Parts: sequence; C-alpha cells; structure tokens
Amino acid sequence: MKPISFGFQPKQRLRSAGMRIRSVHAAAVTDPAALGRTSPGFDPALVSSSMNPMGHDARYEDSAARFRPPWADVACIVTADDGTWGLGMTSHSGPVVPLVNDFLGPIITGLDLVDVDHLWDLMTQGTGSHLGLSGVLSYAISAVDLALWDMLGKLESAPVFELLGGPARESLACYATGGNVDEYVADGFGAIKLPCPWGSDVEAAAELNADRFADARTVAGPDMPIRVDGWAIQRASDAIVLGEALGPLGVDWIEDCVFPEDWAAYAEVRAALPDTRLASGERWYGVAAFQLAIEQGWVDIVQPDALWVGGATPTRRIAALAEAGGVELALHCTGNDPYGQHIGLALAANTTNEMYYGGSIPDDLMATLRPLPGMAPVVEGTIVPSDAPGFGIELTLSDVERATAQSTVSLSPRSPAG
Ligand SMILES: [Mg+2]
Repeated sequence: MKPISFGFQPKQRLRSAGMRIRSVHAAAVTDPAALGRTSPGFDPALVSSSMNPMGHDARYEDSAARFRPPWADVACIVTADDGTWGLGMTSHSGPVVPLVNDFLGPIITGLDLVDVDHLWDLMTQGTGSHLGLSGVLSYAISAVDLALWDMLGKLESAPVFELLGGPARESLACYATGGNVDEYVADGFGAIKLPCPWGSDVEAAAELNADRFADARTVAGPDMPIRVDGWAIQRASDAIVLGEALGPLGVDWIEDCVFPEDWAAYAEVRAALPDTRLASGERWYGVAAFQLAIEQGWVDIVQPDALWVGGATPTRRIAALAEAGGVELALHCTGNDPYGQHIGLALAANTTNEMYYGGSIPDDLMATLRPLPGMAPVVEGTIVPSDAPGFGIELTLSDVERATAQSTVSLSPRSPAG
C-alpha cells in the first residue's frame, strides 16, 4: 500500500474529461455467492428478536418478520463511453431496480459524467417532486451515485476517498453495534452500541434495556463509551422513559428513538432530555432532513448511510452542514462496506465509524459482515481502506453478471467495447 498523503492534491483529470455516460442498469442480486458473499449473514432469529418496528403494539410483538422487506440486494452498473464501469449497491430490489432502469438511468444517460453533483441534482429534483424522495427512490439514487463515483475512480486510477477530497485521516476508528459485548471488547473496539428491544410494556422494556446496559458496563469497564440504538421505538413518550432510565447510567448517546419523519416527536424528546446526547439519520433521505434537524438542535450526532441517503454526493453535503452546525457526523455502518469506508476516510467531519453486528452469528463476526472482495477488514477496532481505484472492489463485470443472472432484468446491455 502506498503511503497516505493528507489533503486533496489537484491534478489534471485526463481520462474522464469530456466523457459521457453510456448506460445505467440495475438488477437484483440473486446469487450473492458470486459477489463473494457465501455466508447467510445475520442470524434471522436474532434479528427478529430485537428488531421489530411494531414491537410497541401487543398485537405484533412476536411478528418482526412481517415487517422485513422480502427483496434482494441491488447491483447497479454505470458504464462510460470508453467501457469503464462502476458498481453501486443498495437494498430493496423490488422497487429499486425498475426505478433505476426505467427512470433514473434514462435521465442521466448521455450526459457528461464528471459533474456528479449536477447528476445527483437531476436525479433528486427531477424525480422526487412526484415520487417523494424519502425511502426507495433514495435507495435507487444511492446505487447510481455510488456507481458513478466508482467509475470515476477507475477512470482516474484513484481511490474514491481521494476524489472526495481526502483522506482526512490515516484510518477509521470503529465501534461495534450488537449484543456480543465480550467479543467486541476482546477484538479491540474502543466503544460499543447496544440494540434496544422494545415492547408494549414500556416500563418493562426500559428496565430490560437498563439491565442490559448495566451488564455491558460490567464487561466493557468504566471508561468505554456505550451507546444504545432504539430504532424499534416509535413514540416520543417511550423514548423519554428510556432516556430517563439510561441517562443516570451514563449512556453515551441514544439513537433513532422515534419514527424517522416524526419531527414533532424529535422536538418533544429533545425538550424532555436536554442533557442526553441524541443521534439519528440513517433513515433520513436526501439533505433537507439533516438541515432541518441540525438547525433545530434536535440531534447531537447525525448518521447518514451512503447506501440509503442518496450516495456519496449528499453525504458530503451533509458533512458540511454538520460541521457548520456544530454537530457530530458518525456515518451509519461505515465499516460494513467499501463505500462507507472510503467516504468515512475522506470526510474530516466523520468522527467515529460503525461496525454493525446486530443479530450477528456468535463467534463469527466476519461471516456476519459478508464483505465484498477487496474490502478492508477491521483489526483491533481500526480499518485502513483499500487505496485501489474506485471503491477498491475486486469484482469483474462477469462476477456481477453471474450474481444477477436470475434477476428479471439483465445487467449485460453494454457494447462490445465494454
Ligand atoms: Mg442505528
């Protein structure tokens, strides 16, 4: 690996100058093993026991699987005039694949590929006004945007973290999210985050989470930051009960404790818990939600996910807002994929990085991650991302085509030059 030099080094970009986008295509990943993903990933039983967005309703307390989308992951290939291609990935193939192939792709095909900010504006402003940016459209835009950055990196023989103005640091300091605290401590992580199972008995749920927090503190020692993720909690009143239980125990932050777009609830929780650090953002889409929350002081930490929020392009804009607004940026699941790793290394505002092991397979953390080939591993709680071109993903186009071969649409529309 070559030595890392800090700060963006301007140089003439020759290969991408004047080049245009030839094609944009997405397909469902029907054979993850072709992408090197041979493990099943998260243990469904463990996921179901702790991640139920309707767990507060007694009728659905044991029905977490009902609320998990059934769709496969998405692979998006963007190809340039000269056949250079980039890979972007996201979730929810059912609605995302046609959004890319039928709508987003035709909007940007034939356009200059260098000004990714302009392409992102076209995709969001040109579609969001009638489709609504929140949710699956944002996932679709994410896949295209990440493919564009991967392609630009390959064209310029540069890692994406350099194209984004970095690296801002030598490595990524990571914390671990999940329930296997002793394993995370033994693996050298400097901080941990606990999932918060919830239920219709609010007092019992708060007591359970306080007990889990106390147990984690015993294992982690007195100084390690311990955060909690309340993403299955929906109501402000529930979040306030949790905050009042965990605040005295020294919780470092409470995350996602109300419904993602319930702004009145965010305001209510902020007012009730003025001294508790609040985090959110992995389920906010585009830039405006972050701008609003930062301006209103509803959160202390913002957590966009590049595979969901619209890609690297809005994540960079959100980082600027966070710095200007005096809140922390802690990218969601930075360590779990090469996209987050590169973006996390590039953005100076990004202070800490998540390794998500929620619902993990005990004693096999790497199997839980299902890393793409070329993705840097976490060692002693630290990641040094690959400096290979693009996002450093070591897959051929044939690999991606095999992974999507059973999809209802084809990823093989390129000309013989590709
Ligand atoms: Mg979270």
